[in-house]
Amino acid sequence: MPRYEYRCRTCGDTFELSRPMAESASPATCPAGHPDTVKLLSTVAVTGGATTASAPAPAAGGGGGGGCCGGGCCG
Ligand SMILES: [Zn+2]
Repeated sequence: MPRYEYRCRTCGDTFELSRPMAESASPATCPAGHPDTVKLLSTVAVTGGATTASAPAPAAGGGGGGGCCGGGCCG
C-alpha cells in the first residue's frame, strides 16, 4: 500500500499515511486532529526508479546573449 505524505496547515506538522491509491485524494487528518491538511508529493519508495529527471536548463552561450556575438563586437 503506498504511503502518502501530508502537511497540516494548522500546526505545520507533516505525517504519512498508508492508504489505498483510491483514497489518496481523500482528506487526511493531522495526528493532532486538525482537518486542514494538504497532500505532499508521494514518498513511495521506488526501487530502480525510472523517474524521468527533469532535463537541466540548456547551456548558456549556445546562441546569443552574453557572448561576443551578443555584445555587438562581432558585427
Ligand atoms: Zn495539525
